[in-house]
Amino acid sequence: VLLSGGIDSATCLYLTKAECRVRALTFQYYRMSQRELWSARALAEAAGVREHRIVRLPDLKEAGDLGRRFDGLPSTYVPLRNSVFYSLAASYAEETGADRIVGGHIRSDRETFADATPKFFTALEKALWTGSKVLGQNRTRILLPVGEKSKAEVVKLAVALGVPLESTWSCHRGGSTHCWNCEGCSARTDAFEKAWVADPLRKVRPQKIT
Ligand SMILES: [Zn+2]
Repeated sequence: VLLSGGIDSATCLYLTKAECRVRALTFQYYRMSQRELWSARALAEAAGVREHRIVRLPDLKEAGDLGRRFDGLPSTYVPLRNSVFYSLAASYAEETGADRIVGGHIRSDRETFADATPKFFTALEKALWTGSKVLGQNRTRILLPVGEKSKAEVVKLAVALGVPLESTWSCHRGGSTHCWNCEGCSARTDAFEKAWVADPLRKVRPQKIT
């Protein structure tokens, strides 16, 4: 399971561990905060994974860090991110004999990023089977168990699965606590509100002014 420290991948980790033994894989890319890495470690430990591997990719930068704009894509866009991440995940799957690679992309991701669409993953799966005898023989699949869900639906599912949401991380800024202003924090707030779930990271829920 590709584990970022966020709610979506944490939920996939818990969904998958209910079915089979799991290894977690985290990519520590450029400017990933220590706090987010800590979240990934805490989630992997809580889920009792067989191994949590952390791959360092210090040169892999987001569009905002590259100082470039990519048409219609947010500043968090990383050129060919999922080609890179899932190729490394496939290498890990070949090494360990895993028969599935699980990613936590949700519905809004595929609407934004071409490399988070079912079409892309189907094509990549074919390429991996062509490029690796082991993956081809094992018919190693790329699965996106929350790919049809909204973030609010994922929050509800996380609660049902007992995901330690207090250990997840959503903020895009590098602070030691959530800033509650950035895109990541806004999406988190919105999802918890729509799911009617109290966010354990907020001791006091914001009052809505009517
Ligand atoms: Zn934030």
